[in-house]
Amino acid sequence: MTGKPEITTPEELPDDTLPELSLRPQRLSEFIGQSRVKESLQIAIDAALGRKEPLDHVLFHGPPGLGKTTLAILLAREMGVNIKTTSGPILERPADLVGILTNQREGDILFIDEIHRLRPVIEEFLYPAMEDYRIEIRLSEGPKAQTMTLPIERFTLVGATTRFGLLTAPMRARFGIVQRLDFYPAEELAEILVRSADILGVGMTEDGANELARRSRGTPRVALRLLRRVRDFAEVRAEGRIDTGVAKQALELLDVDEYGLDEMDGRVLKTIIEKFSGGPVGLGSLAVALGEDVATLEEVYEPFLIQNGFLLRTARGRVATERAYVRFGFQPPSEDPPAEPTPDQSSLFN
Ligand code: ADP
Repeated sequence: MTGKPEITTPEELPDDTLPELSLRPQRLSEFIGQSRVKESLQIAIDAALGRKEPLDHVLFHGPPGLGKTTLAILLAREMGVNIKTTSGPILERPADLVGILTNQREGDILFIDEIHRLRPVIEEFLYPAMEDYRIEIRLSEGPKAQTMTLPIERFTLVGATTRFGLLTAPMRARFGIVQRLDFYPAEELAEILVRSADILGVGMTEDGANELARRSRGTPRVALRLLRRVRDFAEVRAEGRIDTGVAKQALELLDVDEYGLDEMDGRVLKTIIEKFSGGPVGLGSLAVALGEDVATLEEVYEPFLIQNGFLLRTARGRVATERAYVRFGFQPPSEDPPAEPTPDQSSLFN
């Protein structure tokens, strides 16, 4: 739908990483938004520090780019421990974790991103490590393989996932602290933008920040990416200052949707409108039409579309709202669904 859809994708892009390092909040108190999550974490940290014990295992879930990795790093900093980072798909064999787990000191954090993508053999290996702080090492291969049990220091596993539903039940059960991150309201994104512009040394008006915030898909990663691109524009064309006018011009040039929708959002909505007469359509059928899996649709895309009034979740299925029709240049259905009722279909909805 847009010429450069990748700019608003909440997934990490290669050139996100460098500036992210300096823009990452250094203390939990500097982390803007998610106040409920922050408060629970602060209590858990204070309690663990008070008891001089490692933090319980923590699981963060929610859409990409909302701060799960950042919070894991902040937990380590607040607890005064080391953190090692890895991710589900990278880990092939238990041996990949043995070195990390045996070298950790008490309380250290092992952060596993995309934890829903762990292989079963790694999960099995992690259960006793998480529960009893011991690991089983295979000394030989084959059905009669000998194993050795090794104690490890009490550590904290912090897992992050965009797909809570795909995490196995035994894995879920082993986390004492489970926190869901939600999309940020525009005011909080604006606050993040102001703080980051300050660090980057870019002038920005409050209105300029609000304009960027509104188009950031509720996601700090997107907001920061827009800030960097708009800063380039401002430096070249507008004496380095971002106000509403500059923000609008730059975003137009970058083809950023005024609602922050990305390409997949567009496909979801257009498919419902074009192929399913605006809905209602079951999630399963929609997933097949999009060639996407049900869980990704439900956990990554739907929340944003529903929260922003583009999609309704009804008992009979998903329905595109008038706002969605208007956004994609379709004529909204004059009455309630469907879009253009054929004679025999219309009776279904009366
Ligand atoms: P996730 O792990 O959920 O995909 P990250 O923790 O990598 O997300 O965050 C993406 C980017 O957004 C990082 O640059 C991070 O510094 C920034 N960020 C996320 N949440 C906040 C926040 N609440 N305040 C400031 N910056 C944030």
